[in-house]
Amino acid sequence: MATLMISLLVSVLVSGVQLLLVYRQQVFNAEQQLDDIGSGIVPSLSASLWLVDSDRVDLLLDGLIKYPGVVYVELDSEGRRETRGKPIATPALQRTYPLSYEQTGRFPLGRLYIAVDKGFIITRLWNESLRVALSTLAGLGTASLMLLLLFRGWVTRHLEHMASYARNIGIDQLEKQLTLERPPRRWPDEIDQMAAAFNQLRERIVEDMAKRDRQEHELQAYRDHLESLVRLRTMTLQEQAIQLESQKLELQRLAHTDSLTGLSNRRDFLEHLENAIRCSREEDPPLCVLMLDIDHFKAINDDHGHAVGDRALVALADTCRQQLRDGDNIGRLGGEEFGIVLPQTRIDSAEPVADRLREALSGVRVPDANGGTLGFTVSIGLAQRSGPWESASELLLRADRALYQAKREGRNRVIVAPLAHPHD
Ligand code: GH3
Ligand code: MG
Ligand code: MG
Repeated sequence: MATLMISLLVSVLVSGVQLLLVYRQQVFNAEQQLDDIGSGIVPSLSASLWLVDSDRVDLLLDGLIKYPGVVYVELDSEGRRETRGKPIATPALQRTYPLSYEQTGRFPLGRLYIAVDKGFIITRLWNESLRVALSTLAGLGTASLMLLLLFRGWVTRHLEHMASYARNIGIDQLEKQLTLERPPRRWPDEIDQMAAAFNQLRERIVEDMAKRDRQEHELQAYRDHLESLVRLRTMTLQEQAIQLESQKLELQRLAHTDSLTGLSNRRDFLEHLENAIRCSREEDPPLCVLMLDIDHFKAINDDHGHAVGDRALVALADTCRQQLRDGDNIGRLGGEEFGIVLPQTRIDSAEPVADRLREALSGVRVPDANGGTLGFTVSIGLAQRSGPWESASELLLRADRALYQAKREGRNRVIVAPLAHPHD
């Protein structure tokens, strides 16, 4: 666009200069014409005036006014004044010729005035300008068209080809080189340089994409590696958690279990008792507690050794488990003393259970250190919970007292504790 404007401006300037020159040429031509008139007509007019040939003078003046551009002619000669045309205020050119007869000396005869109108010069100037403008336009048009065709062949065609290449190129076609539709040149021009830059750019994109693919692969491999590590670590942690859980369960079991007999320890037994009391409803049968102690156990230890004593304790636990129901809880309260909870059992049902247990235990035989066997008896104190108001410790205390009563009364027996009263 800018180029077009500049070329237009230059053309206008050139045309302006050309028109100025034409104007000057026209003025010069008109002056020349006036000079020609002077040199052609003035001698004939002077001769005609000398000979007083009025007809010829008129004829010459008539001819003069018909000259192109001449608008006014005035002849002053010895009192005679002849005019042709109309006088104008500002003629483009005017000339006054002295008239004289010079055959036999110089005799002044008057003067001839000729005026040339601007319009004449302007019309000629206009015609000439039109011709100049037309020829300039034709020249300019032809030159522009040729330039356009040349420019198209040299530049535009290749630029369009490059633009279409850039528009249509896809990720999968990046391997395709940009080739110009013309034979290669010995000295590359700007189009070749641009095509080379295009191809360099394309190659860089291909390289970058390959690099990115490589990095993505590496990243994926690293991610897979990390994931497998995390999976492995999770599995290990899960295994460790399972181990910890089973260890915790084992520890909980050990915390509640007597290690020698596998029965509840004192704490677990007391918890069971408290629990049974808490869960018992008013309409349910009451619960009973047995306190059981091996008679003269010290003598067994003393006579047969501690290990045999332990065997007796284990045998007692096994027999109790066999004799009692699943819901009954047996606990080792310490040494050779045991406690048993019989939930929802009245004393009249509990007493035969206690007696049957005592009998069963008196029949148990324990291998001694000398290859023989030995037996033992137990004393049992039995107490039924006196009512909802009675606590676990009060109940145990009554059973304990009954146990000591059984010891006092000769051992190997069951003593039932009397019921307590709320005010006791
Ligand atoms: P009583 O008939 O009055 O109950 O007399 P006893 O000998 O059974 O009672 P005593 O309290 O005098 O003795 C209890 C003994 O039990 C003393 C102790 O060495 C023994 N003993 C306590 N715990 C264990 C144990 O775990 N294993 C063995 N082998 N003996 C134990
Ligand atoms: Mg004892
Ligand atoms: Mg004891």
